[in-house]
Order: sequence, then structure tokens, then C-alpha cells
Amino acid sequence: MYDYTRVTTFIPNFAAEKDLLHVARLGLAQLENQARKHGPLTNLDSARRAVSALEVAIVSAIKDDEKLNQAYRDEAEKDFGRDGELEFDYGATISHGTEEGGAYVQGWRWVSDTPAIRALKGLPEEESESRFLNYYRCEDCDTDWEDEWDSTCDDDCPSCGKDFSPYMSEEL
Ligand SMILES: [Zn+2]
Repeated sequence: MYDYTRVTTFIPNFAAEKDLLHVARLGLAQLENQARKHGPLTNLDSARRAVSALEVAIVSAIKDDEKLNQAYRDEAEKDFGRDGELEFDYGATISHGTEEGGAYVQGWRWVSDTPAIRALKGLPEEESESRFLNYYRCEDCDTDWEDEWDSTCDDDCPSCGKDFSPYMSEEL
């Protein structure tokens, strides 16, 4: 029977480990069949334990393969990485699937403060950033102009430089 120590020395050809696991599972299935047909087998439990130890060993051997892990991180970064949105660190934790292949790659997602989070932090509510589009007309030189400001403030005539209040404002 295979034990943990022997299995971990099979690295780095994971195809071989997976074949081995496949063969071990077939063997176990045969034993289970025999047990169903001919009654209890004394070694069935130890065979089950051996196969499950083999699964654990192979998964942990794969986990230890840093080159493979980095390949998963690179793929994640290539396909899903967006600056400030989803980022994958060098050395990010990898969680391997067992039979189907694939892996979870730990990444960082940026979350901005919401009003609820600011409240939890004891911060004051953020002032809303109002913007106004102000319309002006110079009474001296008849120039019309408009400009965006954070209030309905006065503005200087672009032609003669005289100061006027807006005759109309739109909140943006
Ligand atoms: Zn003017």
C-alpha cells in the first residue's frame, strides 16, 4: 500500500500521481465489489484509508509545487486582474481542486467607503459635491458666457473683466 512519504517523493510529474490515484481507486472499487458479492473483507477499511491518504498526499504535493501555483496566479492576473479592482499578489494563496483540475486564487478587491461604513468608522457624512452650470451676461459689453462652479457665484466677464452674478443656474 502507498503511504504519504512515498507519494510525496513522486513530484514533479503530477500526471503520474493522478494515474496512480486512478489505479488505486479502481482497485478499491474492485474490493468493494468483492465485498458486496462475497461478504465482508478484512482489508477493505484499510484499503479505503489508503486511498483517501493517497488523495490527501497528492493534493498536498500539488499544493507544494510553487511553479504550478505561480502559473495559476499568472493566469488569474492575465484574465481577471484589473488595477484597483481585482489584484493578485505574488505568493497569493492557491486552493487546488482535486480531480477536475483548476484552482482558487486569492485576490484583492477594492471596496470604497460607503455612507454605512463611514458611520461605522464614526466619520461625518460626506458633503455631496454639488455642481452648478451658471449663465452670465455682461451688461457693459453684451457678452454671454456660461461656466461650471460649485455654487451660484459671480464670475468675471471674459471680455472686459467686470464681475457679474448669474442670471440663471442649473444644478448638475
Ligand atoms: Zn463685459
